[in-house]
This record gives sequence, structure tokens and C-alpha cells, in this order.
Amino acid sequence: MPKTCPICDHDSLPIGPIVHENPTKVAGVPIDLSDSTFTMMRCSHCALQFKDPLISMDLLVECYSKSSTDQWEHSPSPRKRRFDDLAKCITTNASGKRILDVGCSNGALLDYLTSSSSSNDQWECFGLEPSEAAAATATERRVTILGALFDDLDTNNPEHRFDVIIAIDVLEHLVDPNAFMKQAANHLSPNGIFIALTGDTDAWGWRLQKQRYWYCNLPEHLVFYSRPTIEFLAQQLDLDLIGYTKMSHTRSKISRTVRDYVRNTIWGLSWRAKGFGIPPLRKMLDSNTPPGWLPNKDHMLFVLKATK
Ligand SMILES: [Zn+2]
Repeated sequence: MPKTCPICDHDSLPIGPIVHENPTKVAGVPIDLSDSTFTMMRCSHCALQFKDPLISMDLLVECYSKSSTDQWEHSPSPRKRRFDDLAKCITTNASGKRILDVGCSNGALLDYLTSSSSSNDQWECFGLEPSEAAAATATERRVTILGALFDDLDTNNPEHRFDVIIAIDVLEHLVDPNAFMKQAANHLSPNGIFIALTGDTDAWGWRLQKQRYWYCNLPEHLVFYSRPTIEFLAQQLDLDLIGYTKMSHTRSKISRTVRDYVRNTIWGLSWRAKGFGIPPLRKMLDSNTPPGWLPNKDHMLFVLKATK
């Protein structure tokens, strides 16, 4: 039976087997996946890549909710985490000041947005967050926590409409991206915008290492997008794609950028060459994860706008 795409229902083709990091953990909480093998699939219609099988959302949410608050840095470096770029994207595209951060963690980004805005430019900050520990810190930062997930909101409640909805490092965790995006669209005010940061499978490095790329090795990363997938979703939801920027998740020093580039290029070429016919090298490449590559431009920051 061909596996159908979780977004567009078209058939998909296998790319290859996934190797998760060992021991397997989700948000720092151990998860037992020992009985399952995972294959990366690619949809022939909307280009979504996804793991087969998908890990159940209930199991993942259980891990997120058990996660301790120190899983997230309390005060991440705004420069390193590109909060300046995210805040600029929000302020230049927003048509109002009510902002909802889905998966807001400890509220560090909203805190940065508020503190970097002028006093007559104040944001009304709301958040959804499954981790109780992180949500408690966000509340101290004057973020109004409305629940854990979109399911905790009511589309008929005008208080649950927002000028800006942001989802940073969220979309890759979804079992049902359609349902999530529909909920996001339903909670936008007229002319509201949806901003997301997630991995971009079109990135160089990702295309070299395919399903073995570092971003795919985290068990909680389930679905992987590129621009055609976002365009497909936008069209389905009557939203306009008004912004699309490729960027790295983290700003790194040039020495780290060069080091990771060299290491990962060698790893990718060796893996593609099946270890150059050397059995122990091939075995090592097939069973171990590649080096991390945080400085790579492997994310996309995109903006969707409600057209009505
Ligand atoms: Zn598809």
C-alpha cells in the first residue's frame, strides 16, 4: 500500500531509513522507540517529507508536558537565536498588536519583542504552551497563557482572534499539519498574519545528506517542508504567502560555521559513496548520526496573510 501524504493525500515514495539519536529523548524526556523502524517519505505532489510511521501526538505531548523548564534556556542570547530577525519580521508585517505565540516555551521571544518596542507600541502577548514549567515562566513575563494547544481556544470567542500568530520551531512536530494550519487560519483577525520558522528540505546540506540530515535525527521532528509545501497549504487556506526567507536557526561564529560545513560535507560525500567500499566505514556511516550543523541555512521564515 503506498503511504499517502498527511497534507494532500497524494501518494509518496520512500527516501530511505532514518537513524535517530541514541538514547532517544523528546524534549529531554526518554522515549522508547526500540521496536519501530522509521522511513522518510516524500510526497510527489506537495513535496512534504514525513516519517513513516508518525509517532503519536499523545506520546509526544506527554513528553513535552513532563519536560523540565531548564530544557529551554531561561534567557537565550537574542542575537544567537535571531530574535532581532524574528521581531523585525513581526513588526514590519503586523497590522495590529494582539500576538499569539504557539509553543511559546518560557516566553523569551515575546519578552524580547515587548522590551525592544517603544512604550507607545505595546503588544498584547498571548501564548499556548504544553510544558507547565515553561508556561509558568512565560506568565511571569506577562504572557497570558491560554492553554497548551489550539484545541484549548474557541473560534467563536472574539478574544481568541489575533493580528499575529507565530509558530517558531513548531511545524516540524505536527502529526496533522492540515488541522494545525486550519486552526491557525481560523484564529487570525481580518488581515492577520501567520509567521513560522521551520526546517527547509531544499537547503544545501539537507539535499546532500537527505533523510540522515541532523534535523531529521530528533524523534520529535516528524514532518519537513519546503516552499512548494507552504504554497500548497496557503492556497488551501485562502492565505497569501507574503514573505519567505532562508536562514540558519542560530547565528554562529565564522569558525564554527566553517568547521561544521567541512565536517558535514565530508560526512555527506562519504555516506553517499557508501563509505568508499570500506565495510567498517560504511557500517559506521549507516548506524551513526552525522555531526550537528546548526549554522547551516536550513530553516525558512515565512509569512502568510489572511486575504479576508
Ligand atoms: Zn502532499
